[in-house]
Amino acid sequence: MSSPYPHLLAPLDLGFTRLPNRVVMGSMHTGLEDKTELFPRLAAYFAERARGGVGLMVTGGFAPNVEGWLAPFASRLATHRAAAQHRVITDAVHREGGRIALQILHAGRYGYHPLSVAPSRIKSPITPFTPRELSAAGVERQIRAFVRCATLAREAGYDGVEVMGSEGYFINEFLLTHTNRRTDRWGGAFDARMQLPVEIVARMREAVGRDFIIIYRLSLLDLIPDGQSWSEVVTLAKAVESAGATLINSGIGWHEARVPTIATSVPRGAFAWLTRKLRGELQIPVCTSNRINTPELAESILAAGDADLVSMARPLLADPHFVAKAASGRAASINTCIACNQACLDHTFSKTLASCLVNPLACHETEIRVLPAPQRKHIAVVGAGPAGLAAATVLAERGHAVRLFDAADTLGGQFNLARRIPGKEEFSETLRYFAERLRETGVELSLSTPVTTELLRQGGYDEVVLATGVNARDPRIPGQQHPKVMTYIEAITGARPVGPRVAIIGAGGIGFDVATLLTQQGSSSSLDREAWMREWGVTDPAVARGGVSPAGPQPEPPARSVYLLQRKVSKPGAGLGKTTGWIHRSVLKMRRVQMLSGVEYLGIDDAGLRIRQGDASRLLEVDSIVLCAGQEPRCELFEPLRAAGVSVHKVGGADVATELDAKRAIRQATLLATRL
Ligand code: FAD
Ligand code: NAP
Ligand code: SF4
Repeated sequence: MSSPYPHLLAPLDLGFTRLPNRVVMGSMHTGLEDKTELFPRLAAYFAERARGGVGLMVTGGFAPNVEGWLAPFASRLATHRAAAQHRVITDAVHREGGRIALQILHAGRYGYHPLSVAPSRIKSPITPFTPRELSAAGVERQIRAFVRCATLAREAGYDGVEVMGSEGYFINEFLLTHTNRRTDRWGGAFDARMQLPVEIVARMREAVGRDFIIIYRLSLLDLIPDGQSWSEVVTLAKAVESAGATLINSGIGWHEARVPTIATSVPRGAFAWLTRKLRGELQIPVCTSNRINTPELAESILAAGDADLVSMARPLLADPHFVAKAASGRAASINTCIACNQACLDHTFSKTLASCLVNPLACHETEIRVLPAPQRKHIAVVGAGPAGLAAATVLAERGHAVRLFDAADTLGGQFNLARRIPGKEEFSETLRYFAERLRETGVELSLSTPVTTELLRQGGYDEVVLATGVNARDPRIPGQQHPKVMTYIEAITGARPVGPRVAIIGAGGIGFDVATLLTQQGSSSSLDREAWMREWGVTDPAVARGGVSPAGPQPEPPARSVYLLQRKVSKPGAGLGKTTGWIHRSVLKMRRVQMLSGVEYLGIDDAGLRIRQGDASRLLEVDSIVLCAGQEPRCELFEPLRAAGVSVHKVGGADVATELDAKRAIRQATLLATRL
């Protein structure tokens, strides 16, 4: 039978080695790199992905020296002793038939420590430390550190290295006048500014020999005002190719850029057109990246000739067996990355180990094991939201007989609301995945079945798992029975019409999402690359340096006039995701949503919503008021069952609704299901 993904699964001959397919697992910092005692876990994490068939993997970034650290005592490869400690990783990968390259990342002025260095003494807007300006001898020392790191990587058994030349780190900083004001041989005109990466690659190639992969991660789109022009990007790419790079990987956007590049609201494959432009200029293979999360999309990019390889990082966290499933005709059971960043990047930025919202086993391969159950039990799971779906599928995978109930006529619980929010379309993929897993694991599904204590007792189950979710909190505002007041469920599903002027009570995750939905004009820009580029002011770097449109962001006018309110005096949205909160706030700002903090709700009447802020009372003349005032656990079945002697457990919102999200719901349910 012919493969549905002939381009994706085609081998790539690099001359001295052959990659079995076109999938590169892009570099991700997991936190397991930072301590050698965690290397056995890192080895298990990569070995699992090598087993899953990915062609080539790239580690999280390792600094070549202390100045290049991302943070104090973060990952570094600079000694023979350290190289020997990496053997556990490379051996584990090679035993599974995989290939792995070490990423060399010198943080430059993005280093979160006082020893950081840069071409010039210019502080970045996202770190508190001002870097030391390197002397000419200092630059030479950095080059030698890069080269030594590559030779140590080879000694450690890696198949290659990736030189991190994008995202605004050290090498990237030499390329732009934004960060490079030097007047010696490393500064001045672009030809001089680009000598650093060229010198690094040339000397590295000489040191490691011909039969070692050198990937150069090139910034194709800086997304900062005085970024590279397209001709500069091409000039550098050609020079790096001549210097001995094996292949070029695509980097998009400096970390300080105010344009999202990997969040779920970025259209799928949004930057492949840039890799295509570059590919025509080079002889060596080029790899595209960012927001590619399905085999269909990867195949279409390769088939269109946009790239030779596709880098997927988070999708391999979400499903280590992505490639094997695609190759064996099981693409429907791929656990798709929904680009939420909640358990990966958000964790990295808050200095906790990365994992994955949809796959809590990621980076915990040695700790969370889904093993066959010692004894087959009959188990009822009530509620088919994220928690119930995770519990039911893991229990059934372990061999239990599982029946999953939901009162609704469809799977998914609150994810059915989330996926209607513009920019959260990816959440549908999780429901597709779980529907397939229910089928594969043989879970018996009873939809449209409101479960009672009696039904469960009659079922005679050995265990009952309550994943019944939440009830919306009633904020008890005087006049709340007014017909202009509705719940977030009614607003999102369209069950009640929403007028042109709206007040939203509660500025948590759901309040922000409801504001996004109600201000959306036309269809979501996440599904339309051109519209998304206009909205964020992104253009071709051949037209404007760095791809920053001179016209700036051009959002569509908002569909409604919206107030977003909270009682706290803190900044609205302060509790949103660490790496995505700024995107949600920017979108609402662009849509002129008025965010008010420190609000007291006085009452609702025909005229609108009466509030007090400080000493001043005011009337918000609105047509509709949407309640997004948080949630409370829904678990009325628990106590009666326990009293009747049933072995009963609570997971997800049914257990604790405060600070509930799908990450906690799925993780808690998975952990319980591995133990029953
Ligand atoms: P639920 O999803 O609430 O599922 C509970 C299920 O139980 C429901 O299907 C219900 O019908 C069923 N049920 C209840 N009682 C019974 C009964 N007696 N008999 C049968 N069935 C019953 N989280 C994130 O992590 N990231 C996000 O970006 C995000 N965005 C969101 C956007 C919106 C608009 C909303 C509403 C939520 C969002 N969430 C997000 C929150 C996330 O969806 C919830 O945390 C998650 O769904 C909780 O999972 P759960 O399984 O505990 O409960
Ligand atoms: P939430 O984040 O707890 O926010 C509830 C909001 O309601 C707060 O703004 C709170 O602010 C207000 N509130 C609480 N009690 C109130 C009362 N009695 N009267 C009036 N206002 C009240 O909850 P949520 O927005 O319902 O979201 C539920 C969960 O879904 C969240 O915990 C979140 O993690 C998850 N979610 C996540 C995302 C995401 O993008 N990651 C998106 C959507 C939802 P004040 O108390 O200051 O008024
Ligand atoms: Fe993807 Fe979210 Fe998992 Fe990160 S946490 S890998 S973004 S699904």
